[in-house]
Amino acid sequence: MTSLGDLPLRDDLRGREPYGAPQLDVPCALNTNENPYPPSERLVKALGEAVMDVAGTLNRYPDRDVLALRDDLAAFLNADTPGAGLTTGHVWAANGSNEIIQQILQAFGGTGRTALGFEPSYSMHPIITGVSGTRWVNAFRDEDFGIDPARAIAAVAEHRPDIVFLTSPNNPTGTALPLPAIEAVLDVAPGMVVVDEAYAEFRREETPSALTLLDGHPRLIVTRTMSKAFAMAGTRLGYLAADPAVVEALLLVRLPYHLSAVTQAVARTALAHGEELLGGVEALRRERDDLVAWLRGEGLRVADSDANFVLFGTFPDRRRVWEALLARGVLIREVGPPEWLRVSVGTPAEMAAFRTALKEALEESL
Ligand SMILES: *Cc1c(COP(=O)(O)O)cnc(C)c1O
Repeated sequence: MTSLGDLPLRDDLRGREPYGAPQLDVPCALNTNENPYPPSERLVKALGEAVMDVAGTLNRYPDRDVLALRDDLAAFLNADTPGAGLTTGHVWAANGSNEIIQQILQAFGGTGRTALGFEPSYSMHPIITGVSGTRWVNAFRDEDFGIDPARAIAAVAEHRPDIVFLTSPNNPTGTALPLPAIEAVLDVAPGMVVVDEAYAEFRREETPSALTLLDGHPRLIVTRTMSKAFAMAGTRLGYLAADPAVVEALLLVRLPYHLSAVTQAVARTALAHGEELLGGVEALRRERDDLVAWLRGEGLRVADSDANFVLFGTFPDRRRVWEALLARGVLIREVGPPEWLRVSVGTPAEMAAFRTALKEALEESL
């Protein structure tokens, strides 16, 4: 039997663990922030027809530059954020925003370069950074999981990173960043600034999108995904908006024909049914606000959330609470600061199951 240690693996990959949120078959999966509502029968039919339409051309490579889909995505963003003024040239798409982030690291990071983020935040930022050979620097978030502009400026001035990651709303805390904090970083950052807006569609009324800052900031990249609010995690479609020069840079590192014809067709069909797919977002936001209030009512600490998940605690032994929930068929996520847990917002039935299970789990661990 050959073990991993026997292979001539890169030294910097030795001892690493693969990304691994547990994928378990449970009645109540509230651990990866997906939209709980599956596509309607009508949409399933439309998706099937779209795949049929391209099936007869699968002997050919797909559109390498993904123009039609980028056109649709630009239109979607312009509707989402009035005044954004985005064209096809401002938008780029890939297999999930994780591939977008990987391409950003390939183009702007690498050996001898540095990326900086503010943890606790999305675990894939440091992982993709490390795998690309880029050095990772963590600047910590504040006690309330926000980012104080003065401290952010100091961290950027100290480390002079080639890439800064700002996640808003942040995963796993749900914390959104006010625009002045993002502008403060843009003003001092010597390199690229990536605002990961995977959960943007869930943000509260008063929370703006960094898309409004693109004009005049050619080093700003805003990433989005169809995996969360758009209820298309299985499609693997992430995208970005940035100055067209940034898209030109990413063309240098993308693999030819990276986005399959099937993915492009499915994503375009989903966008054409955007109203239906995003139809559940309002209900999920209300469910989230109710969940935050309920958890606080139970005497727990809860981070304010602009996303479709909630970080709550604190538990001296969070593993025990996580296990007690799993024993009741409710899978949540052990992530973030050591004494906290994260739960995704599901259907009303799933939330009821979570509340019952958590009450029992907390009584049990008394
Ligand atoms: C879920 C998530 C992503 C999405 O990744 P995809 O590859 O698009 O599925 C990106 N950023 C953050 C912060 C996330 O939580």
